Amino acid sequence: MIKSEYPIIWEKENFSIKIFCSIPAIATGILLQASNTYFVIDPGDGILRDLNKDLEQDEILSITDIFITHGHHDHVGGVWSLLTYMRIMKKSTPLQIHYPEGCIEIESIYNAFKTVYSKTIPYKIILNKLMDDKSFTRQKVKIDPFPVKHSELAPGGKNTQLVPALGYRFTHKGIKICYGGDTAYCEELVKMAKGADLAIIEAGDDDDHIPGMHMTEAEAITIGETAKEYFLVHVPE
Ligand SMILES: [Zn+2]
Repeated sequence: MIKSEYPIIWEKENFSIKIFCSIPAIATGILLQASNTYFVIDPGDGILRDLNKDLEQDEILSITDIFITHGHHDHVGGVWSLLTYMRIMKKSTPLQIHYPEGCIEIESIYNAFKTVYSKTIPYKIILNKLMDDKSFTRQKVKIDPFPVKHSELAPGGKNTQLVPALGYRFTHKGIKICYGGDTAYCEELVKMAKGADLAIIEAGDDDDHIPGMHMTEAEAITIGETAKEYFLVHVPE
């Protein structure tokens, strides 16, 4: 297995991505920067600590968008602390959270946050439930969400069931970064990674293989090699 060394940093013409970490069942955390715009992708546990090392307080408060691929804890565990930090430090600009339809984790975190802090949230939170793969633009970055195939154990622990899961392709001034999130091998990811300037591909399959959750290293490399550059992430430690 190729061991990923974190952080992974990649940059091209004022479009950069920093993967603080992507460790299965522990945490993911990704910062995307397009000129002066900051997006956070899959804020797992520790995201606030990692952002705080790299960014000034006002830069963290200027984050406009959070992108969630799916609701597993290693991808959303840091959402609460990020929202609360922005409240305490008096963020004044809106925050959009993009997530796949059916991701009850994000809606539950949002509802709990609204309940706990009711009238003392100084910024607007806009939930953008993504119900199809229509592209949209945020801060001069084009976003193409696409469905991927990720599963979890069903109650009872024998069978698996699909979870709502998306990958995202971000395009800024013609430069494309494709992030598949967690997924088994799927045609949508094959299509979106092809020709991208950077593909970030999970290779999370491990020995106690549960079908439909993750890709093997060989599958991930097959897809990665169709992009101009790629990184394998979410590799079991
Ligand atoms: Zn997952």
